[in-house]
Formats: sequence, structure tokens, C-alpha cells
Amino acid sequence: MHPGFLLSVLLCSAAVMGADLPASRYVRILVYGVDRVAQCAQPVKELQAELQTLAYPDGWTIGVVCTPVAWESLLKIADPPPTQAAFTNFIRHSTVVNAAIFRLRRSQYRHTLAHELAHVVCQCKDENTAEQMARSLERTPPSLPMRQTAKAALK
Ligand SMILES: [Zn+2]
Repeated sequence: MHPGFLLSVLLCSAAVMGADLPASRYVRILVYGVDRVAQCAQPVKELQAELQTLAYPDGWTIGVVCTPVAWESLLKIADPPPTQAAFTNFIRHSTVVNAAIFRLRRSQYRHTLAHELAHVVCQCKDENTAEQMARSLERTPPSLPMRQTAKAALK
């Protein structure tokens, strides 16, 4: 079976949480590995807070993988470059995040989210470009409107 098919099945069956983010209405958050969103509430809350200043595009999906077992099985299915933090799939317009990163310092998980956003914004897989862009994205002051900050980062 094609791995992409399995992933889409997982995405559907794990879809628990709707698009109700205050600053990022069209980014969808899905949780994996738990029966109820409440079991993954803290990572989802931290993610929502960062999404207010890290402007993923409308229609983007962010999957939060809430358990180590779910993370390992998703890695097997999606087969991204080696990571314990996050990976992005351009074709599926989605970024998958290991909920474990939210136990690290905020500066660390914010950097991970900014790094993945940089891949999305530059539409590139180059790690150096993504790292450079991430450093400017993660510094974005919370008061700036999100669409403008995403564009500013492109220049
Ligand atoms: Zn990267």
C-alpha cells in the first residue's frame, strides 16, 4: 500500500479538533495518539499560542503527535528525514509535530515551529535556508499582524 494513503487514513481517523484558533482561523490542528483532545491539552495550547505569531498559511494542517508510540508509527508511515521534533509535507500542506517538544524550553519549541514554517514559506527543503529564515521568524514581535510578518520574512 502506498504510504501516503495510510497517512491520509490516519489524518482522517485522528481528526479530533476543529479550526478554532483565535489568530489563525484557517490552520487546522489534528491530534494523534490520544482518544480525546483533553489528553493532549497542554501541547495544543502551547501550539495555539505560538501560531498567533508564527503565521502558517490558510488551509495548513498541523498534526500534534501526543505519544511516543504514535510518533514512532507516524515516522514509519511518513518516512521523513530523521527527526524527533517535526517534519513538513508540502504536498499534503501539513506539518507534523512531536508533542514532546512542548516539554522543552519555549525558545526551543518555538524555534522548531519557526523552522518548519520557514520550509513552508520558502517552499524549500534546504536546511540552511530554513534555519536562517527561522531565526527571523521566531523573533517576530507578537504585536505585528501575522500576514505582514510572513511576507516581511520573505524579503
Ligand atoms: Zn528542516
